[in-house]
Amino acid sequence: MTGKKKKVVIIGGGITGLSAAFYMQKEIREQNLQAETVLIESSPRLGGKIQTVHKDGFIIERGPDSFLERKTSGPQFVKDVGLGSELVNNATGRSYVLVGDRLHPIPAGAVMGIPTQIMPFVTTGLFSVLGKARAAGDFIMPAGREQGDQSLGHFFRRRLGNEVVENLIEPLLSGIYAGDIDKLSLLSTFPQFHKVEQDHRSLILGMKKGLPASNQKHEPSRKKGIFQTVKGGLQSLVDAAESKLTDTRILKGIKVEAIEKSGAQYSLKLSSGERMEADALIVTTPHQHTAGMLPDKENFQYMQEMPSTSVATVAMAFPEDAVSIEGNGTGFVISRNGDYTITACTWTHRKWPHTVPKGKALIRAYVGKAGDQAIVEQPDHEIISAVLEDLNKIMKLDQKPDFTVVSRWKQAMPQYNVGHQEEVHKMKEKIMNNYPGMFLAGASYAGVGIPDCIDQGKSAVSHALDYLKKATL
Ligand SMILES: Cc1cc2nc3c(=O)[nH]c(=O)nc-3n(C[C@H](O)[C@H](O)[C@H](O)COP(=O)(O)OP(=O)(O)OC[C@H]3O[C@@H](n4cnc5c(N)ncnc54)[C@H](O)[C@@H]3O)c2cc1C
Repeated sequence: MTGKKKKVVIIGGGITGLSAAFYMQKEIREQNLQAETVLIESSPRLGGKIQTVHKDGFIIERGPDSFLERKTSGPQFVKDVGLGSELVNNATGRSYVLVGDRLHPIPAGAVMGIPTQIMPFVTTGLFSVLGKARAAGDFIMPAGREQGDQSLGHFFRRRLGNEVVENLIEPLLSGIYAGDIDKLSLLSTFPQFHKVEQDHRSLILGMKKGLPASNQKHEPSRKKGIFQTVKGGLQSLVDAAESKLTDTRILKGIKVEAIEKSGAQYSLKLSSGERMEADALIVTTPHQHTAGMLPDKENFQYMQEMPSTSVATVAMAFPEDAVSIEGNGTGFVISRNGDYTITACTWTHRKWPHTVPKGKALIRAYVGKAGDQAIVEQPDHEIISAVLEDLNKIMKLDQKPDFTVVSRWKQAMPQYNVGHQEEVHKMKEKIMNNYPGMFLAGASYAGVGIPDCIDQGKSAVSHALDYLKKATL
């Protein structure tokens, strides 16, 4: 790049925008580019949905608590911002699913609820004999002929039957998206399952073949869990990344109100009353916010229509001896058929022992799901009392919590319903034609997990730099 410095503006300081800013700064330095970066965040702090509370020796995550280790961009980002020595894996233990008022251990070998070991499925009390026989139909059933996308519910009900879906797969999968399994898109959430069916016909046999040899033993021999976090809480990742952004201008507490195209540039209307020009834009805000900034509703119709679910997390601190937990359990998810407000619960002191003082327990419950979000609007005391009422039916709690932290996340879980991938693709094409130099990234588009967001941030950086390099040639 030659001539006047090009300005890249990144809108939104959640993990997507933060990682985009970090990798943009790295590229500018390493390639010695004539470019500068501005990161604009509407709230007074960076991190978006990542937010950690430190209280009485507890480390409490209000939003995400970890990321999958196998999606390497998560741990890599932690290392890149200098916190590699702080990475910690979750302690292994049993996870349960609550069906019919009873906690059932999730059968060993279940990958997102798909059986990969036969005996644990034959012996589990989670399904009736008929339900198990129906799931075994997967061995002989031909591959589906659906063209294009289908719902996760349709796919799994066809392969494994309703009972396995309702009692295991639905609670596990909706835990990630807080969505309705019969609306969520297979191709936008778990395209690998579709590929397994097409390649191997049987989902069970295909998943089994795809597992590493160490996972095919009957009992899990893993000493460490599959998730990672940073010891000081995920906010420390945000803080470390922010402290590295020494060549990036960071504006906090300033909202981008409108994005307008002005010749080859963009003109941003800021809540401070100022205007800012940009040569390239990386927009990482949740889709409903992004839709609000763009004047051209026609090109962004999908952004206005795409639903999001509201959820809340309730962290409760107890003395450890006031809480009775089954075996070495680390938490449970709940079938939507049950009469419960909570959708899942983590026994955090078991899963992440470093986050609680000695002799203490931390329980984190989740409420709010597609079709049932009214609870999130209730005052704290109502949410806490609904959560405690549920927990008292499931486990023994000998006293009231020492303290609670309620965190509401309104319209926070974007719903990738059937057709999502195609709609996003069409929208990005329109942007390429009508808004060259503007790139969308973040949880609304290609994965909600922290590593998926980082991947999108990185990819937007490389697209933006390619664009700027071409524009100046
Ligand atoms: C309760 C909960 C638990 C979760 N658990 C996990 C987990 O354990 N592991 C995992 O991998 N994922 C988890 N997720 C998902 C993950 O946390 C999110 O998908 C991810 O953090 C989203 O990052 P983002 O940068 O795309 O968006 P956000 O974090 O939403 O960031 C967007 C930013 O844009 C800012 N903004 C909005 N409008 C404007 C504007 N007009 N101008 C400037 N700035 C603006 C917002 O203030 C915000 O800071 C969880 C999510 C929730 C809600």
